[in-house]
Amino acid sequence: MILLNPGPVNVSDRVRQALLQPDICHRESECSELLNDIRQKLLKAFVPGAEDEYTAIILTGSGTAAVEAALLSSLPLGKRAMVINNGVYGERLSSMIKMHRLGVPDMKYEWGVTPNIEMIEKAMIQHPEVHTVAMVHHETTLGFINPVKEIADLVDSKNRVFMLDSVSGLGGEALDISGSKIYLVAGASQKCIQGFPGLAFVLVRKGFMEQVMKYPKRSWYLNLANYYEEQERGSIPFTPAVQVYYAFREALDELLEEGVENRIQRFKGYAATIRAGMQQFGIQAVLSPEVQGNTLTAFNLPDGVSYAQLHDKLKEMGYVIYAGQGQLEKKIFRVANIGALTQKNIEGFLAAFQATLEQTRA
Ligand SMILES: *Cc1c(COP(=O)(O)O)cnc(C)c1O
Repeated sequence: MILLNPGPVNVSDRVRQALLQPDICHRESECSELLNDIRQKLLKAFVPGAEDEYTAIILTGSGTAAVEAALLSSLPLGKRAMVINNGVYGERLSSMIKMHRLGVPDMKYEWGVTPNIEMIEKAMIQHPEVHTVAMVHHETTLGFINPVKEIADLVDSKNRVFMLDSVSGLGGEALDISGSKIYLVAGASQKCIQGFPGLAFVLVRKGFMEQVMKYPKRSWYLNLANYYEEQERGSIPFTPAVQVYYAFREALDELLEEGVENRIQRFKGYAATIRAGMQQFGIQAVLSPEVQGNTLTAFNLPDGVSYAQLHDKLKEMGYVIYAGQGQLEKKIFRVANIGALTQKNIEGFLAAFQATLEQTRA
């Protein structure tokens, strides 16, 4: 089955084989080495040249675990977070913060609308209690790219902390973490890095991590200070998904061998093929090209064809597409193009799509 959903993705045989380890105890030295390797490889891939300025914290859980740990750990006593919210994952950041009554009103925009820099600046001046500003990098809701660099610079210029959910961005979209002064970036194993689901991570500026150690702990399992302290000693506070970690190390090796930039270009090429093919079939993309990312495209459903029909016919032919969310659930479908795919897979998908259209229109 070819997965064209935004993670979990198709993995290579090499990554799959790496799952098959002998039984291991996570308190043994092999596991410390594994953890250290993963941390170093993450830094090498995502903050090249600035590996000393960042630390990687590894958790067992899906991407949301890393996002929640990063956000909740970033706040000193009495301070608050502001969320820039223009999609389903921005809404999730907002819900996390509201649950703890640690928010100020969101900077809320319609899905696919670029946030307004002046408004964000005004809100930061109006709310001196805001310590962390949080945003999503690649909003998977529609495949929208937020203006990370501009907003990170602005947040830094106001002496606040910028936290980024790049769970669906890292490895698929260009991101200059160290050059953009991003304090915390959340990521996960099962998207553009092409690992199995189950491992999540946060890249944190080292100096800031030292501050975080003094902040209140708002969750027992999801607090970064706890993980950092243990991981610096080569240990881990809770039982990790050991086999998934082995496979993730292999996926990171693959990523470093391919090169992050080449990986991005590979996905970009797949997206271009899909978008050109759909245009030929008369299928409209929801977003305009300037704000589209490299890894997912939201398309309007063809007239008279339901998502279920489209999905089921494509699945019969071996391709899994993805539904829209919320108010667009019945209007759009999404096609992601990440994972251990080939150009042939993408062309096969377009041929299957064309056959489906002909059948449903007949
Ligand atoms: C996938 C994703 C997440 C995390 O989802 P999980 O299912 O918890 O792994 C978070 N943010 C964005 C933008 C995502 O695309």
